[in-house]
Amino acid sequence: MPSRTIINSRLRSQLIQAIGSSARLTFDEPMSRHTTFRIGGSADAFFEPENESEIIRALQYCAGQEIPVTLIGNGSNLLVSDHGIRGLVLSVGQPFSGLSIQGCCIEAKAGTRLSVLAGAAAKAQLTGLEFASGIPGTLGGAIQMNAGAYNACMQDVIVETDILDEQLNPVTITGQEHQFAYRHSLFSDRSVIIIKARMSLKNGDIKQIFDCMTDLANRRRCSQPLELPSAGSVFKRPAGYYAGKLISDCQLKGFAIGDAQVSEKHAGFIVNRGQATAHDVRKLIEHIRRTVLDQQGVRLETEIKVIGDWST
Ligand SMILES: Cc1cc2nc3c(=O)[nH]c(=O)nc-3n(C[C@H](O)[C@H](O)[C@H](O)COP(=O)(O)OP(=O)(O)OC[C@H]3O[C@@H](n4cnc5c(N)ncnc54)[C@H](O)[C@@H]3O)c2cc1C
Repeated sequence: MPSRTIINSRLRSQLIQAIGSSARLTFDEPMSRHTTFRIGGSADAFFEPENESEIIRALQYCAGQEIPVTLIGNGSNLLVSDHGIRGLVLSVGQPFSGLSIQGCCIEAKAGTRLSVLAGAAAKAQLTGLEFASGIPGTLGGAIQMNAGAYNACMQDVIVETDILDEQLNPVTITGQEHQFAYRHSLFSDRSVIIIKARMSLKNGDIKQIFDCMTDLANRRRCSQPLELPSAGSVFKRPAGYYAGKLISDCQLKGFAIGDAQVSEKHAGFIVNRGQATAHDVRKLIEHIRRTVLDQQGVRLETEIKVIGDWST
């Protein structure tokens, strides 16, 4: 795919100066390396900040130059266009991670993986995060989405979240202010950056906690196509139904466009059989939505975020 970058060599050197030359800033970075779908064209610029001041410097520079910024975590809920992403991708991931535990409270940075968090909680004999151990996202992505599984979700454990608001001011969001709902939070509708959060857990029995995590991992392995790249459940659960069942009732299991296929194992997942393009996935999503609406009368809404440059 030819590059359509809007970051020319002058802006590149300015960006390097603004952020500080770093191996964590790259140009023409293939997003297929940063999404669990293993799909997506190149980001003009890609930056993995290590601390808050790097985030602020990058965002201030981009705001001044009117360079669009796209925020991602571990890329496990994303479909990125084959034409990539114009502007800067700010990836709040591994370099921006870390946690501390005091009593029943865990504080963690936004880039911390949920599996790491759940493991640390378990070792500290704290229960409440078992549900999150198999979700392949970061804390920031999970709070934004109110990620959940097996009848629990982030809402159950999050007490306070520190963010940078649209003007880059530090703000702390507490309790009900999060406006958590099914796969939704206050942050879903705003361009804010989650920096860190505090979670409240309960004392538990270490064996029971690890047994529970093992049981949930086995259930995932049996029911989800973890052996192939995907972005998890493509659609939100429509009230009163299960998206996977609706899709499977339409005989769509195994249906493919190019290498994008409705998983044989879990019809709510689209898997990348190898060379799937974002275009294939998008066409497949539309086909599924149309078929389910025609045959079952239910309108499916996507849970995954479709991002990047979709202009032809
Ligand atoms: C195999 C598989 C299984 C999955 N199972 C589940 C499941 O059981 N339950 C579930 O809910 N999801 C599941 N998912 C989907 C996904 O893992 C979650 O939605 C996860 O919370 C996304 O986190 P992320 O860090 O990957 O975010 P990304 O996918 O990178 O981004 C998702 C959204 O969060 C925003 N975001 C990311 N970081 C921040 C931040 N620091 N501040 C503000 N906004 C931010 C992004 O802008 C974007 O809008 C699964 C995915 C896969 C591939």
